[in-house]
Amino acid sequence: MEESIIENWAQKNQVEVKIVHDDLSADNADLAQGFDGVSSEGNLPVSASVYEKFRQYGIKQLSVRQVGVDNQDLAAAKKNGIKITNVAAYSPRAIAELGVTDAMYLLRKIGIYQDRMAHGDFTYDKSTISTEIFNCTVGIIGAGHIGGASAHLYSALGAKVLAYDPVYDASLEPYLTYTDFDTILAKSDIISLHTPLLASTENMIDKTAFDKMKKKPILINVARGGLVDTQALIAALKNGQVSAAALDTLADETDFYDKKNMLNSLPEDYKELQAMPQVLITPHIAFFTKLAVKNSIEIALNDAKTIISGGEVNSVVNL
Ligand code: NAD
Repeated sequence: MEESIIENWAQKNQVEVKIVHDDLSADNADLAQGFDGVSSEGNLPVSASVYEKFRQYGIKQLSVRQVGVDNQDLAAAKKNGIKITNVAAYSPRAIAELGVTDAMYLLRKIGIYQDRMAHGDFTYDKSTISTEIFNCTVGIIGAGHIGGASAHLYSALGAKVLAYDPVYDASLEPYLTYTDFDTILAKSDIISLHTPLLASTENMIDKTAFDKMKKKPILINVARGGLVDTQALIAALKNGQVSAAALDTLADETDFYDKKNMLNSLPEDYKELQAMPQVLITPHIAFFTKLAVKNSIEIALNDAKTIISGGEVNSVVNL
């Protein structure tokens, strides 16, 4: 899908582009030799040696075709004179819509019914009774591009939306009410995570956080797996502190991200989560819509071209 969009961009901009299918790594960084710039996509960690090679080849930028840059060593890139750019908003709605879809799926216990019906069980009972979304309080943690788009969607469905974010955005006031982290945990029926993965946000949803959840909420994580302590989540699902969880990203996903035939290589905690009918796991595809893919390529390659030509862009994340 990406190839045809990249080729169209290259033709339109009269730029020679070489496409490499593997994720950027120390093993293939040499392929950049002779080129003026590099663009990458993927979640595998990029080591300092990659940026060192780029510096030797006279490359001054790496344009990442995604929002999250937690797999990059930003300081090492800066040390080597490499400007890393991201695409801050290629389609926040793409990710927000998956989060809302997951929340509705779990709210209506569809996974549990699917599991029962696969075993010939067509019953319903008090454990599977649902709640209308307009009677729910949704807590958004991180109200940036995607958290803000999620607030728009949930409020359009009639839910009460709370948000915690250290940065205040007045334009979101019609859709949400700002509050503190602990209030989100205590008052939400659905908790949706939309912060970047940083040292300060890693494992922000841990046992202490689960202990503060009072309404047996549904947890939605379409941001980064590392935001949630996986063992604490498994315990919270087992003891009923959370009623369900949707995970588009997992803490240790780099080993199996976008790979086939991984059943025998999955970690035990992943298998345990996957076996729970109240858990919905998708393979990090929240971003994967036609508009998002097109925008991420065009914005990233335009930024690369601007930097290579000596211009400035405001998407540099390691200034
Ligand atoms: P953004 O920068 O627009 O918003 C992030 C928000 O989080 C900001 O408003 C920031 O102030 C807030 N924040 C930072 N630390 C916080 C904390 N400790 N508590 C509460 N809020 C905090 O980013 P975005 O475009 O909304 O994307 C959010 C994340 O979603 C990305 O960093 C990325 O990891 C993830 N993402 C996932 C996919 C996917 O396919 N699953 C796709 C795109 C992005």
